Amino acid sequence: MNTPRGNMPHAHDSSSREAGADEITRGRRALCEIGKLCYSRNLIVGADGNLSMRLSDDTILITPAGAMKGFLEPHHITRVDMAGRVLDNGPRASTETGIHTTAYEVRPDIRAVVHAHPPHAVALTLADIDLQMPIIPEVVVTIGGIPTAPYATPGTHELGDSIRDLLRCSDTVMMRSHGSITVGDNLMDAFKKLDMLEHTARILYLTHTLRGGLDPLPPEAVEKLLHTRKILGVTGMNTLVNRCGLDG
Ligand SMILES: [Zn+2]
Repeated sequence: MNTPRGNMPHAHDSSSREAGADEITRGRRALCEIGKLCYSRNLIVGADGNLSMRLSDDTILITPAGAMKGFLEPHHITRVDMAGRVLDNGPRASTETGIHTTAYEVRPDIRAVVHAHPPHAVALTLADIDLQMPIIPEVVVTIGGIPTAPYATPGTHELGDSIRDLLRCSDTVMMRSHGSITVGDNLMDAFKKLDMLEHTARILYLTHTLRGGLDPLPPEAVEKLLHTRKILGVTGMNTLVNRCGLDG
């Protein structure tokens, strides 16, 4: 497994003070809103997927086990510690809480995690079509290459182990035959990356259908886009910048 180059992200200054009621209320509402958005855009169906947000005291608000994310109410949201233990006698947390605690553990710089099952992106993992390839300019600037973790059984430690190294070097990771993980400064940022991931996957799918393959952007074009990224001050782990998983 590859490791990222360069400096590791800086941790946020998290105080040990208990998260305030306002912060928790805002967080619960945001999780419901983004859950509805994921559901309405077919990025998750049924009771699939899960979303979380790290609070200022390093506890995590997370969607509960078995809930349909398109119909969440703020009181459904539960709170866990970094070991995934439920706090406040709340509802049982998502069975995939391990994805979230792993992400927060290896990425002290992030505040939100969205795990979804975007259909075109998952189909590409099944067809072994490489999402690391630079194809769409906006994705090169914002996300970079999208690495895919080998298949691991959902809800097990095996799954956390399969994504740990990739999350260190990319904000957007696919899990083969399963789904996506996108992380960011806040929930909308993590959702934006998921939305862009599925849109890109759909374009790749359509192109493969039309001509049976596709060509990446030439290296000079990628260089120019990465320069633009620097000028725009776009941050976030980008495998086209840290070369994680791309150099053999
Ligand atoms: Zn899943």
